[in-house]
Amino acid sequence: MSDDEREEGLPGLEEQLRDMLRKANMAFMTPQAQPAADEGAPPPPEDQGEDARVKAIREFSLRPRDIRDYLNRFVIGQDDAKKVLSVAICDHYNHVRRWMDNPDLRQEEYAKHNIILLGPTGVGKTYLIRCAARLIGVPFVKADATKFTETGYVGHDVEDLVRDLVKAADGNTELAQYGIIFVDEIDKIASQSAPGSKDVSGRGVQINLLKLMEETDASLFSQTDLIGQMQAIMDMQRGKGTRERTINTRHMLFIVSGAFDKLGDLVRQRVSSSPIGFTHGEEDKKEGSAFLRLAETKDFIEYGFEPEFIGRLPVRVVCNGLSVSDLEQILLNSEGSVLEQYRWDFEGYGIDFEVDEAAVRRIAEKAHAEETGARGLMTVIEKILRGYKFELPSTAIRAFDLTEEAVENPVTALAELLKKKETARREMLDEEIDQFIAEFEKQHGLAVSVDKGGRELIIEMCVERDKSVRGFCAEHFRDLEYGLKLVARNTGQTTFKISRRFVKNPSEELSRRIAKSFRK
Ligand code: ADP
Repeated sequence: MSDDEREEGLPGLEEQLRDMLRKANMAFMTPQAQPAADEGAPPPPEDQGEDARVKAIREFSLRPRDIRDYLNRFVIGQDDAKKVLSVAICDHYNHVRRWMDNPDLRQEEYAKHNIILLGPTGVGKTYLIRCAARLIGVPFVKADATKFTETGYVGHDVEDLVRDLVKAADGNTELAQYGIIFVDEIDKIASQSAPGSKDVSGRGVQINLLKLMEETDASLFSQTDLIGQMQAIMDMQRGKGTRERTINTRHMLFIVSGAFDKLGDLVRQRVSSSPIGFTHGEEDKKEGSAFLRLAETKDFIEYGFEPEFIGRLPVRVVCNGLSVSDLEQILLNSEGSVLEQYRWDFEGYGIDFEVDEAAVRRIAEKAHAEETGARGLMTVIEKILRGYKFELPSTAIRAFDLTEEAVENPVTALAELLKKKETARREMLDEEIDQFIAEFEKQHGLAVSVDKGGRELIIEMCVERDKSVRGFCAEHFRDLEYGLKLVARNTGQTTFKISRRFVKNPSEELSRRIAKSFRK
């Protein structure tokens, strides 16, 4: 078959496969056809032992304060957000725990505490949730709302989120049922469906997300995952795996987040025209987040959200912009901050560094000017330390100080550090030459002196080969003792000069001196 034929043949084959799958799906894979999926209670703990992570959820006993205290270790500021989130997360997992103990509760209505997080970029919205998920031990996935399309044929389907959650749970579908799904940039899909816009895809994505947030049996195989679907059919034909082709989303916690800049403006307008709003002129001074805190359901709807969608997000949390001193605190006190990550990176080469107070302040100021929240810290520190990271591992430098001057002008500071260290290293090598001479005389009774040119070359070669003088001389002057002893025996000479020429080619020079000594 030619390449052309093969290419033509493929779409036909794919179509046949799709057709097969469609029929097979109708027969076997619709949720209605699967009694097990809709009766949906998680399987009772099996005798051979429940997964430890699922067991931890079954035994969930954290209090909001525990979660808040844990978050404090990593996330600086956002005190209000931490409290509200801690309560919402505890409520959610308390409910999950009660339901796991008593699946009959399924019949009862329960309004999930799905969360909408508002606030500028890089201020810890994702970080808060990621840390909380880690504490509770549930899988966590994050995606941008803008990557989803209504149909999922082009772009991604919102159900991909659920499938990713299963992957994050290492394939454990039971654990994935209690995971956390974080959808960022949610404000972008609201504005897409704003009045006057022809693009209705944002609305479609909202509706699809709504289904997931409420409750649905999401397929574990995407429409485009032909291999996965074939595998599922084959498994089923072999009589295994009827339960695990869908996963129920009822107990997943959904968190959507976005910067919502324009929503702040919208609320500002409403508030300024209201008699009970801020007093005249006062609103101009308020930070954007102050207005986001005042956002009401009608503002979200005007912004472009479906009322049902926003209605399923009862917990509204606003995160503040980070001040210079917040950024300083992140550098100094947040576990796992970017500075700590850099420390780890340098430690990999056995290099340690100190950052002084003024440098921390300057880094925070520069990061603040980037207007990307704590992400600015990474940008600034990366720029400062990139040269250090490249140069220092190949030098003898094992510690350095990061000063304010280095923050301002890292290239010059690094050059000075390298120069200073280079001079110090050369001085050290020069001293090592004296030590070598002394040891040689002590061991062999032969006095050797190395002239200026010889010393320079030895130092040069040690630096180049990254060797100590002792290591270098042992190898480079292997025959020195034997040769000089021969010369001494023939001539009675007891002191010897080592010149640059000798260092350059010791065996040739030694042979020459030996030959000369015989002539004498
Ligand atoms: P976003 O608010 O856009 O979701 P992230 O939470 O992803 O931002 O923040 C990006 C990174 O910046 C985090 O991984 C974390 O390292 C750091 N960071 C952001 N905000 C804070 C904060 N308040 N305290 C400590 N670190 C933070």
